[in-house]
Amino acid sequence: MAPRPPRRAAAPRPPRTSRRSAVRPLARPLGAHQSIAGGFTRAVERAVETGCDCLQVFTRNINRWETKPIAPEDATAFRDAVRTAGLRFVVAHDSYLINPAAADPALRARSIAALAEELERAEMLGIPWVVAHPGAAGEQQVATAVRRAAEGIARALGQTHPLAAGILIETTAGQGSCLGASFEEIGAMLDVIDAEPGLAGRVGVCLDTCHVFAAGYPLFPAEALETTLTRFDAAIGLDRLKLIHANDSKRELGARVDRHEAIGRGCIGEPAFGLLVRHPLLAHVPLVLETPKEGADGRPCPDEDRRNLAVLRRLHGTARGATRPRTARPGSRRRPGR
Ligand SMILES: [Zn+2]
Ligand SMILES: [Zn+2]
Repeated sequence: MAPRPPRRAAAPRPPRTSRRSAVRPLARPLGAHQSIAGGFTRAVERAVETGCDCLQVFTRNINRWETKPIAPEDATAFRDAVRTAGLRFVVAHDSYLINPAAADPALRARSIAALAEELERAEMLGIPWVVAHPGAAGEQQVATAVRRAAEGIARALGQTHPLAAGILIETTAGQGSCLGASFEEIGAMLDVIDAEPGLAGRVGVCLDTCHVFAAGYPLFPAEALETTLTRFDAAIGLDRLKLIHANDSKRELGARVDRHEAIGRGCIGEPAFGLLVRHPLLAHVPLVLETPKEGADGRPCPDEDRRNLAVLRRLHGTARGATRPRTARPGSRRRPGR
C-alpha cells in the first residue's frame, strides 16, 4: 500500500471561548444547517438560539449561478461571531446547480468555476470545508462521469491553491443519475484527486445518514452498521470522514430517494441514531442536522432543531460505557493494487 499523504488537521477545532452553559458539553460538535437570511451573522445567532455548537451554511443563493461578493467587513463579523459564540466547527454546503461531472462542457466549466468560488468564499469566512455533491451522470457511462466529477473537483482545488479550504464529497441517495450513492464511486473519485500533487489533504467525505440509507446501506442493528462502516472504510477510508449529516429518512432502505425526516420520525429510527452517535470510531466526527425546520403551522421554527438536537444528545448520553465494536479501524482502506 502506497504511503498516504499527510492530511490537514481540519476539524474539530477546540473552543476558543467558554461554552454557553445552556449547552451540555459533548465529545463532538453537534449542530444544524442554518439560514444566512439577514446576513452571515444571523446564521450564528440562529445556531446559538437553537443550542448548536457547530454550524453549516450556504454562503450564497444556491439556486442561482450569480453571487454577490462577500464584503470583507461581513466576513470579519462572521468570524468574530463564530468565535464569540464558541462554535466549534463551521462548514459550508455548495450550490445544487453545480455538476462537475456534466457532459456539457459549458455547464461543467461553469460548475468548476463555481466550486472554486465556493472555496474562496469559505476561506474568507474562515470555513475549512465545503460539502459538495459529486454531480450527476446524465446520459454518460457511470465510470466516465465519476472520472469527470473527480477531475472537475481536482481542477477547482488546483485553481484555488494555496487556499486551506477543501471539499467534502457527500454520499448521495443515488436519485436519478446522481453519482456518489456507492462508497466505491466516491473511493474512485478520491483516487483521481489524490493522484494530483498537493490535493489529498484538501478533500474528504461527508456521510449523510439519510442518503446512505436510501442508497441501500443499513444502519441498524449493530452488525449491519458495522458492515456498512467496514464497507466505507474499505472503499473510502474512515480517516477521510470529516462530517456526518444526521438526517432520518422519509423513505425506506434502498429507496434511492432523498427525503430528510426529523431524527426518530423516519425509516432509520432512533435506535440506529443511538448506535451511530455512540460509535467509538465516529466519536470525533461532527454531526450536523439537515432535518425539516417547519413547525406545526408549516413555518420555520427553532423548536424543530432544538428537539432534534435534544434527541441526539439524549441518545449520546445513554451511550457512556457502551460496548466497543469489533471491526473497522480508521485508515485501513484496503483496495487492490495499493
Ligand atoms: Zn446532506
Ligand atoms: Zn439530502
